[in-house]
Amino acid sequence: MTDLPLWFDPSQVFISGQWRAPAGGDTLPVVDPSTGAEIARIARGTETDITDAIDAAEAALAGDWGAMTAAERGRILFKLGDLVLQNSDALATLEASDVGKPLKQAKNDVIALARYCEFYGGAADKLTGETIPFNAGFTVYTLREPHGVTGHIIPWNYPMQIIGRSIGAALATGNACVLKPAEEACLTALAFADLAQQAGLPAGALNVVPGLGVEAGAALTAEPRVRHLSFTGSVATGKKVQIAAAENIVPVTLELGGKSPQVVFEDADLDKALPFLVNAGIQNAGQTCSAGSRILVQRSIHDELAARLAEAISALKVAPAMDDADVGPLVSARQKGIVDGFLAQATPDQILAQAALPDGLPEGGNYIAPTLLGHLAPDHSLAQDEIFGPVQTLIPFEDEEDAIRIANGTKYGLVASVWSADGGRQMRLAKRLHAGQVFLNNYGAAGGVELPFGGVGHSGHGREKGFEALYAFTALKTVAAHHG
Ligand code: NDP
Repeated sequence: MTDLPLWFDPSQVFISGQWRAPAGGDTLPVVDPSTGAEIARIARGTETDITDAIDAAEAALAGDWGAMTAAERGRILFKLGDLVLQNSDALATLEASDVGKPLKQAKNDVIALARYCEFYGGAADKLTGETIPFNAGFTVYTLREPHGVTGHIIPWNYPMQIIGRSIGAALATGNACVLKPAEEACLTALAFADLAQQAGLPAGALNVVPGLGVEAGAALTAEPRVRHLSFTGSVATGKKVQIAAAENIVPVTLELGGKSPQVVFEDADLDKALPFLVNAGIQNAGQTCSAGSRILVQRSIHDELAARLAEAISALKVAPAMDDADVGPLVSARQKGIVDGFLAQATPDQILAQAALPDGLPEGGNYIAPTLLGHLAPDHSLAQDEIFGPVQTLIPFEDEEDAIRIANGTKYGLVASVWSADGGRQMRLAKRLHAGQVFLNNYGAAGGVELPFGGVGHSGHGREKGFEALYAFTALKTVAAHHG
């Protein structure tokens, strides 16, 4: 078992710059997905803790934090990015142990978190309003103002990246944040709060309350003093968050996953495409909102691509997170149960390839063999529903129109990729694919903290990442001065 590099007590909540026990006094287990062993306890925060966190955030806005200039906020975020990098090994170990992510993937998340701090640190004093030409005798201008207290509910699959994109943008624009991490992934959220304090973030500007979604999460969404909600997770919970936001008339950003297509035409460079096609499906054991879980291939090259994918997927190595193989365990026994349930729907001839699970994997770990499915109608549940495991579906298409029809034929629309040497085709598909991001001859653009991200349809609405997020985390005020 890995010794956790904990320099704080994870069984406490972080409110107003102080660590303290949750009001109810209860804790929840942290289970290592690689082994099934309990490795720590986290606080079971409840409504009282959420209320205290919102009090603290309001006090920060009325005090030191609210008085800071944009440049000062930016400087704190820069320093925080440095501290994240200085603690890179500890953060990566915490994440790998907490969510089962292979160590090098956890290290990439640390780098992304630091990049978000740098990006939003640099952007803090670049966000401006505008002057608007208007009637004679008027001067009209706009101000971008923070919402106030913002609520952040994040999932367990990419805690550090989602904290970076959401908290980074909210702090850069002067909001005070209350963060409810997923009960399965709290350790790096708590570590981040401690580092933020070390970087000079005033007390109350960032508060972290671990706990159950139905308790702490629901309390946060129900609080009328929270003036913006940012949520990443399932469609079912996203709906609840949106309904709660509607009760209080607050804006909400929802990022709800997808069933993203990777569209491969017969003129594609398959040597270049292959590693992207596979990685987009198995990164973080497929527990990725933007996973490229549907591979659409032109029928003329179907068999060739199927053979090459089968070879690559069969060769994937599965191991405990700290052994740093291609694929680690799923985050929880519950998530493994969901994925096993999907796989049970496949008939033997629909399993085109499957990696072998090695002997000696810890018995309590949540391991699933990476799998390629095929011979499925595009409307089959396995080709429609988000599986959230290392499972991809290969679907043939005839021509461009057919590819677009199948690609757009789910309720989701988060990400899509097009693999083709034909520039005109790339542009046509980029316009017609239902997605918040389209990648041409690549997938994911290496994370791209600068690139606005979000979905259409059941993938959600609103955008995070890039400069765009700064608009979401501010309210625009128009000032019209009549001076004659
Ligand atoms: P959820 O959507 O339930 O969890 C996401 C976050 O919401 C967690 O912090 C959770 O807290 C919190 N939450 C849960 N219920 C409420 C509530 N009533 N009010 C406010 N917050 C709440 O996802 P699951 O973890 O249950 O995963 C189920 C499926 O969701 C996955 O199989 C996958 O398909 C999808 N998913 C998509 C993600 C994405 O990136 N888009 C990320 C994670 C999951 P807690 O976990 O502590 O209960």
